This record gives sequence, C-alpha cells and structure tokens, in this order.
Amino acid sequence: MTPREAFLAGFRRLKDAGVPDPDYDAAQLLAHVTGVNALSLRMDTDHVLSDDMAARYLDLLTRREQRIPLQHLLGTAWFLGREFLVSDHVLIPRPETGLLVTRALSCLRAYPPPVAVLDLCTGSGCIAVSVALSADIPVRVTASDLSRAALDMAEENARRLGATDIRFVQGDGFLPFAASDRFALILSNPPYIPSGVCPGLQPEVLHDPLLALDGGPDGLDIIRKVIAGAPDHLIPGGRLLMEIGWDQGPAVRSLLSETCVFTRIEILQDDAGLDRFASAIFQPQQGGGVSLGAIL
Ligand code: GLN
Repeated sequence: MTPREAFLAGFRRLKDAGVPDPDYDAAQLLAHVTGVNALSLRMDTDHVLSDDMAARYLDLLTRREQRIPLQHLLGTAWFLGREFLVSDHVLIPRPETGLLVTRALSCLRAYPPPVAVLDLCTGSGCIAVSVALSADIPVRVTASDLSRAALDMAEENARRLGATDIRFVQGDGFLPFAASDRFALILSNPPYIPSGVCPGLQPEVLHDPLLALDGGPDGLDIIRKVIAGAPDHLIPGGRLLMEIGWDQGPAVRSLLSETCVFTRIEILQDDAGLDRFASAIFQPQQGGGVSLGAIL
C-alpha cells in the first residue's frame, strides 16, 4: 500500500464513520506512524508502507472510527503554536482558550513585575505554560488542579516546553492557598457544562475527563466558587479572567456584580461571536462595604 492509497482509504473510512475532518485526521494519523510530513504523504505514490506501519495505521483508523479524539491517538495537541502532551486525564486544549491567554498577556503590563499569575483548574497546563513562556515581562506563575494525574501532565508539559519555574499546587479550588497567597491575575478554564448536557456532547468530547467538563446542574457550580474565592486571593486592582459557556454571560455578570467587589465587569466573545470569557477587576471596598449602621 502506498502512502497515497493509505491516505485515501483512511479518508473514506473516517468520512463514512462521521468523523468531522476525515482528510486532516487520516493525514495526521499516517504522518504519526511514518514520521513523515502529512502533506507529502498524501501525494506519495513512489513508496510502499512497511507491514508494521500499515498495521499500526489501520489500528489507529479503527480507533478514530470509534470517535476516540485524534489528540488522544497522537498523544499531543497544539495550543498557541506549542505541542502539549494530552491524555484522558486532561481536557484537550481548545483553540478558543487561546484568546484567554492572549487577553491575559495583554493585561500583564498593568502590574509591577514579577506579576503573580494563578491558573486555576490547569488541566494540561496549556494556559499556565503559555503565559509563562509568552509573557514579555517577568511573571511568577502558579498552576493548580484537583486532579493529581492532570497536574503530573501539566508538570511534564512545563518541563518539556521549558517553563521551568511554574509552581504546581494540588487541591480543590482556592483551598490549598494560604491567606497570604495573592495574585495580580487569576485565570481559569473551569468545568462549566451543565451536568444534564454532558451525556449528549459530541462523542470525542466524552473522552475528556468529566471532572473538567461538568459544572453541576446549571454549569455554574465551579464558576460560583471561583468568584466567591477570588477576592481573598487577588491584589487590589487584580483581574479575574475566566472561560464561561456561550449562554452563561448574563448569569456570570450578575454573580460578579453581586459580590460588590468587582468593577469593569466584561463578558467577552470568542471568534465565533459567542460569549466565552468573563473579566473583572477586584476593587475592595473601603471599610469592608456598606455597614448595617449606614442603612438603618
Ligand atoms: N469548551 C469546552 C467544550 O465545549 C468545555 C470546557 C470546559 O468545561 N471548561 O467542550
């Protein structure tokens, strides 16, 4: 079987299985087993695949037909130009999350260096590592996750990509942080899918860990915790920037404004024009807010 024949056969099989990008995926799987650039393989009628390569390619096609994500079969995913290791212990980085990083990078200069940045629910570490490596002023990045397996993968990604001074912390939300742990930026892509929606997600998404997707009955359980805990761990003037679901903008805006300590609340859109991020600045009230005496 020539590489071109293999590519065409794979393309047809994946297309028939309803895989969204059959030609891209067939070419990537073929490139993975041969170690040769995907573009040249598509047209290559001059060579013949070894039996071992053909067998491994056919096995990968079978698993992709079963809608196992391409990134799990390759073991890696691209995020903002860097290749991250992934597994079923971490959410596969999504392109839209790149906008959260871009926004965070553009906010760094508002703070004196080194800027303390926290990535809560770090998963693969894609946000923390990207900020650490792309910041144009000194930063001190902390990454936390409830899952030990996710944190191990984030640490490995940081090591492989050269982000050597990230602090990794395991624990639930803000619980592992001391009262003195304050950050200029708190970033998070928390689980925000309503529990009832999870079972009906695209087959590939069901291979992401439920822990990284399921945000409770209305999807806002973790977001509520982040909003409640962030004021205890932001410096005055610090920013909370998190990813949210496309239909959660109004609810998240209300949650942020109800705290009375966030100003400049913004709901930002992704490239598809959907609400995807919430941003707010922490402004502690002088004297701890309105006192009962002032109302009576
Ligand atoms: N954006 C992801 C999805 O739609 C969900 C990520 C999350 O819950 N943080 O699959």
